[in-house]
Parts: sequence; structure tokens; C-alpha cells
Amino acid sequence: MTPRSLRLRLTLWYLLLLAVILAAFSAGIYLTLRHNLYANLDDSLEARSEDLLTVVQFTGGRPTLAATLPARPSELEQFDRAYDSSGALTFDSSGGAAPVDAGAVRAALSGSASTHSIDVNGSTFHAHLAPITLEGRVQGVIEVARSDGDVADTLRTLLLTLGIAFPATLAVASMGGLFLAGRALAPIDHVTRVARRISAEDLSQRLALDLPEDEVGRLARTFDEMIARLEDSFRRQREFTADASHELRTPLTAIKGQIEVALTKQRSAASYEEVLRTVNEEVDRLIRLVRSLLTLARADAGQIALAFEAVSLQSVVPGAVEQVRPLAAEHGVELRLSSNADAVVRADPDLLLQLLLNLLDNAVKHTPAEGIVSVSWRTIDGQVDLSVTDTGSGIAAEHLPRVFDRFYRADKARSRSAGGSGLGLSICRWIAEAHGGSISVESEPGRGSTFTVRLAEGR
Ligand code: ADP
Repeated sequence: MTPRSLRLRLTLWYLLLLAVILAAFSAGIYLTLRHNLYANLDDSLEARSEDLLTVVQFTGGRPTLAATLPARPSELEQFDRAYDSSGALTFDSSGGAAPVDAGAVRAALSGSASTHSIDVNGSTFHAHLAPITLEGRVQGVIEVARSDGDVADTLRTLLLTLGIAFPATLAVASMGGLFLAGRALAPIDHVTRVARRISAEDLSQRLALDLPEDEVGRLARTFDEMIARLEDSFRRQREFTADASHELRTPLTAIKGQIEVALTKQRSAASYEEVLRTVNEEVDRLIRLVRSLLTLARADAGQIALAFEAVSLQSVVPGAVEQVRPLAAEHGVELRLSSNADAVVRADPDLLLQLLLNLLDNAVKHTPAEGIVSVSWRTIDGQVDLSVTDTGSGIAAEHLPRVFDRFYRADKARSRSAGGSGLGLSICRWIAEAHGGSISVESEPGRGSTFTVRLAEGR
């Protein structure tokens, strides 16, 4: 089970790491000291054996040492012994307390000195055996030995100290760790408390915390930016719903008005027919509007799957122009299709056709009789620019940046009477962007407009 507090988790990780480091450090100290102390003990034994070799006496050809008082076995700290060339003891200051290591004596008699440990009355001694050489021949062996009691005592004290210091350090470090983690995490708790106060109803609130430019500061700022984006998209959603309701209400009110007037008294068949015709037009407008709304809602929800394929403009553009021809004829507008070298784009052919029809429809509706609407395209650097140009009313500069916004109409009265909902260009922009492309407009009031769709060339 992992603790739910990050502060506790951080502290535990920190303690674990510290424990590993301390353990490695303590083991290092202990082993180094142990090695050095034993090396010192052995060095001092060698030095003493060299000293004794200079004072070896020979009695009857057998080497021996000057008599020293044999220590009592319980106080035995060190002892010296001498052996003759047959390995028999000629001197022993331990008074016979220490067992003889016959193997080590034989090795020394054959010329090689050695150090090993022996057990004397339950305590460990290090013993150094060295050959006694006279005139190039080994005459016997001397052995010097010392108890390792001091070394063992020192090592035991060190172990005890480390054994107390280890948990004590961890205890102090855990308190320090909790304190530090608490300090570092306090701003996060603060951010959480303030964030909890921000509700979906009141997205105008911000954390607005005066934090330094560190991890928590960045978190708080990112949070504020996210709330700002949410607020913006909520606002747009609200506006969209309000605009859509308004757009739906207008034709419904018109229909209701027509029907109520018709019902006030008995009328001729011709005037009923007239009412029905008007109602039919309004219903058509409603159907177009609902279809556009549905397209945008599904586009927003990412529900429109684009069926990309290689589309030749030569196969799509003339068809679109033909579809608008009756409307153009009605408005007395001339439609021109500039003949270009064919270009191929990766696109959904149905959506590309819808985009073109929207642009052509707008161009024809905003161009007076005798005007010209032309379609052309060109390929530059792997990009295809498809343009619809008209010689119509044009769009005033102040409206230009907003014509692609939903429900935006530059000329409200005209656009509505022409049956527009203000959604056509937003659908065009969505289609262009869904293809990874873009749409732009250039316009001069009174002289005409050019809408250009830029798409990537592709097969
Ligand atoms: P609508 O359905 O009203 O045409 P659009 O989104 O298609 O809506 O266009 C938005 C507005 O941009 C229109 O109301 C119109 O004022 C302006 N507009 C679009 N195309 C043209 C054009 N070719 N010439 C002049 N104005 C245009």
C-alpha cells in the first residue's frame, strides 16, 4: 500500500536512499579500519621478529632467547618462542599455554616466514614465524605472537558507535525530510485549495497566485491558462446557442405571422397559395439552417470522417460551376472557369464540392447583374491555390477579419433576404482546415472579392 501523502512518500524515498548510502559508508569505514589495524599488528610482529633475530643466542648449537619472565596465562598479551633445527622448542615465554603449529614451524624451517592466527585459551593471537639463518643455513625458528584483543576491542567500539549513529541519523533525517518536503509541497496545497473554489459556473476566477517561476509556479500559471481557454470555449458555446436560437426563431416567427394573418378571415384560394409559398420558403431556410448547424455540431464533435483520396480539380470544379449556373443565370451573372493545367489534391471530394458551392453561391449572390464570377487555380511549391473571384459588392475592411465567424454577416439585411444564415463561410473554413489547408479573403468594397483556398498538392 502506498501512502496517500506525497510528503510522506518523498520522505520515505529519501530515508531509503539515505539508509543505503549510510550503510555503504559505514561498511566502507569498518572494513578499511579492520584491514589497516590487522596490517599494523602484523607489521609490528615482523618488526619484533627482526629485532629478536639479532639477539638469538646459540647454546650447544641450538638457538634460544634470553629468558624473560613467563607471563601468567590469564594476562598473556604476547609471547616469543624459539625452535631448533629439528622443530623442538628451545624457548617459550608463554609457559606452554600456546599450542605449537607444527606445519608453520616446518614451513619456516624450509626458509619461508609466515603469519597466521592461533587460539590461546579462547583468545585469538597473530603469530609470525621466521627462520633463524646462520652462515647460509637455517639453524632454527623464532616465533613472535601478540593477542588481537586491542584490535577487536577497537572494532567492537566502532560497530557500537555506528549501530547507534545509524538509526539516530535516520531519525533526525526523517524529521528534516518531512519538514523540507512539507515546505516544498505547501504551495501545491495552496493551489489545490484555491482551485477547488473555481466552479464551472464561474470561470472568470483565476488562481492569480504570486508564485516564483518554478515547477509549482508554472503549474499554477498553466492552470490559469487552461481556465482561460475553457472560459473562452464556454463563452463561444453560449453565444453559438444563443445565435442559433435566434436564427431559428426568425423564420418560425415569420411562418407563425403568415398563418395567423391567413386565419383571421376567409380568403381566396390564390391568397392561401401565396401564404403557403411564403411558408415553404421559410421552411426551406429552416432546413438549410438546421443542416448547417448539424454540420458544424458534428464537425465540432469530430464526428465527420473525411474520406481522403486524390482528387483532380479538373473533375470537381467544372461540376460545381455547372451546379451554380442556373442561379447565376437568374442573377444575370457570368460564370467563368479559367482553363488551367490540372492539379491534384488529397481531399474528401464531397466536402471539397460543398466548399466550392458555398463560395460560388456567395459570389453569385453578392454580384449584381452583368458582373463576373470566375474560378481558377494554380500550383506553387506543392500547394494548390483555388480562387473564386467576383466583381460584386466586396466586403468592407472592418468586416473582413470576421466573415469566417459563425453567424457573422457583413451586410445583415441583404444576406438574410438572400437566404443566408451566416454559417456558410464558417463551414468553408472548417473544411479547409480539416484538410490541413487554409482559406483567406481579399476584398475591395464596390469592386469585388477573392476567396482563396490553399490545399496541399497530393496524390
Ligand atoms: P451567408 O450565409 O450569410 O452568406 P456566409 O458565412 O457565407 O454567410 O458569409 C458571411 C458574410 O460574408 C455574408 O453575410 C456576406 O456579408 C459576406 N460575404 C460572403 N461572401 C461574399 C462575397 N463574395 N462578396 C461580398 N460579401 C460576401
